[in-house]
Amino acid sequence: MGGVGPERLSLNTATVREQWGLAQCIDGCARHGIGGIAPWRDKLHEMGVAAAAKAIREAGLTVSGLCRGGWFTATGTLGQEVIDDNRRAVDEAAEIGAACLVMVVGGLPDGSRDLSRAHALVEEGLARTLDHAREVGMPVAIEPLHPMYAADRACVNTMRQALDICDRLGEGIGVACDVYHVWWDPDLYDQIRRAGRERLLAFHVCDWLVPTRDLLTDRGMMGDGVIDIPRIRAAVESEGFGGLNEVEIFSALNWWRRDPDEVLATMVERGRISC
Ligand code: ZN
Repeated sequence: MGGVGPERLSLNTATVREQWGLAQCIDGCARHGIGGIAPWRDKLHEMGVAAAAKAIREAGLTVSGLCRGGWFTATGTLGQEVIDDNRRAVDEAAEIGAACLVMVVGGLPDGSRDLSRAHALVEEGLARTLDHAREVGMPVAIEPLHPMYAADRACVNTMRQALDICDRLGEGIGVACDVYHVWWDPDLYDQIRRAGRERLLAFHVCDWLVPTRDLLTDRGMMGDGVIDIPRIRAAVESEGFGGLNEVEIFSALNWWRRDPDEVLATMVERGRISC
């Protein structure tokens, strides 16, 4: 069951974010035969959106997603600033031809214990972003994050919760299924079936290390941890998901310290044996 070729992989720029800018990531993908890329907005802005769009096109890369919109909750109200920023994110995603705009929705408002309030802000923020995203035809992908990030990054923590929001908001919104965040969920496979082809917008891979030494920046290379990636990939593909396997590894202690060409070569090798 295991194994994808490099043309079925996408490099999320976070994987080499300490070593490379976006232009180097694009060249690196081309050099290693990697089929796609998923820029973070900071890297995209550094390079310039138009220049990046052109370079990505010329390299023949698919854009599996733009990371990220969201962050609706920080101030406890949905200000115009955050709405405008998400509108810009939608436009940037469209300009680089991204398959979707990935949303990290935000956690509790600063100083708050009101999780219900956070959920309400997220849903309103997504709805307002979706108004614009539908106009430009850019799919919006909610990325549920592991519950350990509920306070500070995303109060949407399971596929079920994300799909409930999608049900309420309707067309143009789906989920980014990141194995790191959802592998533990006993409901995962039922929710992948529920999502179906239409709402499975992105598939992110890395691995869960045991022990995990840092809650944010100790993600593993595929094959180095405990996630049954081939099983999850088979489940999303059996729904008809045809997108790339986006490799997103935050790794301050290991991969961010290595020669980025070694990181990409390892990605490619592990794609073949551990994905
Ligand atoms: Zn992800």
